[in-house]
Amino acid sequence: MELINPRSLLFVANLLGMLCALVLWVQARSFPDDIEGLRDWAKAVFLIGCASGLASMRGILPDAVTIIAASGMLLLGQFLLVIGLQRYSGKTPYWRPTLDAIGAVLIIITWLTYGTHNYQGRIFIMALAHIGFFSFGALLAWQAEPKGFGSRFLGIAFLLGVAIAVWRLVTLPVVVDDADVTLDYELVQQLYLGVFSLGILGLSIGFIMLTNERLRVELEFMATRDPMTGALNRRAFFSRAEVEWARSMRSRRALAVITSDIDFFKKVNDTHGHHVGDLVIKDFAHRAAQMLRFPDILARFGGEEFVILLPDTGMAEARQVAERIRHAIGTHRDKALPPYTVSLGVSIAQGNAGQAADVEALIAEADAALYRAKQGGRNRVES
Ligand code: GH3
Ligand code: MG
Ligand code: MG
Repeated sequence: MELINPRSLLFVANLLGMLCALVLWVQARSFPDDIEGLRDWAKAVFLIGCASGLASMRGILPDAVTIIAASGMLLLGQFLLVIGLQRYSGKTPYWRPTLDAIGAVLIIITWLTYGTHNYQGRIFIMALAHIGFFSFGALLAWQAEPKGFGSRFLGIAFLLGVAIAVWRLVTLPVVVDDADVTLDYELVQQLYLGVFSLGILGLSIGFIMLTNERLRVELEFMATRDPMTGALNRRAFFSRAEVEWARSMRSRRALAVITSDIDFFKKVNDTHGHHVGDLVIKDFAHRAAQMLRFPDILARFGGEEFVILLPDTGMAEARQVAERIRHAIGTHRDKALPPYTVSLGVSIAQGNAGQAADVEALIAEADAALYRAKQGGRNRVES
């Protein structure tokens, strides 16, 4: 008695494969459009499932269907896996050369089937194609972002696919040419197809995990960032600031806050239009962020108002940072933008009594300083 009946294995593997194609398709419809490749994968998994289903019908259906058509679908399916991964990574796939190559392989396979009846040659060429597609897939998966569990799982699943194809090549000489129609051949081939279909299942799960991780990263970004500038939003700022506040209170190290507001910004909007106003805000966010160090955070609190949190930073140093930003904004500028200046207010907490009671109070102190900077003529720093 056999441990596994290859035909049942293949049937179950194909059934699961079709379910995976359905999951991929549903995800493709519900995920944001910028996560690409899911549709290609759904089609690929469906095609490969059909191909291996057809291939298992040898002897029942004509060779043109079970060999030629099935090989074509299999190759196209594997190519679509690669295309999907390329799209997922934002690369432009090149269809033409590979489609031509697939056409050429199919011509050779037709010849090997009807001309020379060379069964081994056929398996050899198909195994080489698997190795090619899956090696490329492994490389793309390994480079895919985010580099989490999904990317690693997918990369390893592709490598296992390569290993299976290599195993097929290595075991090829065992089967002699005229065994093409014997039961032995059928069993080995069915087993191979079954393992292959299970492999496709592993790949689908890997790709689903990868796209889910990408979705999580995107949602997290959207929940914590201002979409226009990419700076942190108010909520994300406070959740980070609360942590830094507690740390600073305990360690008695200084914590600095800088608030900033672009000068005469209404005039920028009025003379150059709202669009140019937006560009100025983005320019400020971009350049201010560049002048900060790692633990410092920049958040957009509204319109053209930004707040900067500087952990472990005393008054002299914080003033220096604010002054550097003011100077850079007021002097060097993007030629495409109108000149503009910025006023900044600085405040610090050092865990002593009599100072700001919480982060909000610290920001209010910086805002008061900012108000004085505006009163004092703008384009200046007050503390
Ligand atoms: P001050 O020097 O006193 O700061 O003068 P101001 O003109 O900059 O005054 P204020 O800071 O009050 O002006 C804020 C303006 O910013 C008002 C609003 O129309 C504009 N604004 C707010 N959000 C946006 C935005 O997202 N894009 C653009 N283009 N303008 C915005
Ligand atoms: Mg303002
Ligand atoms: Mg302003």
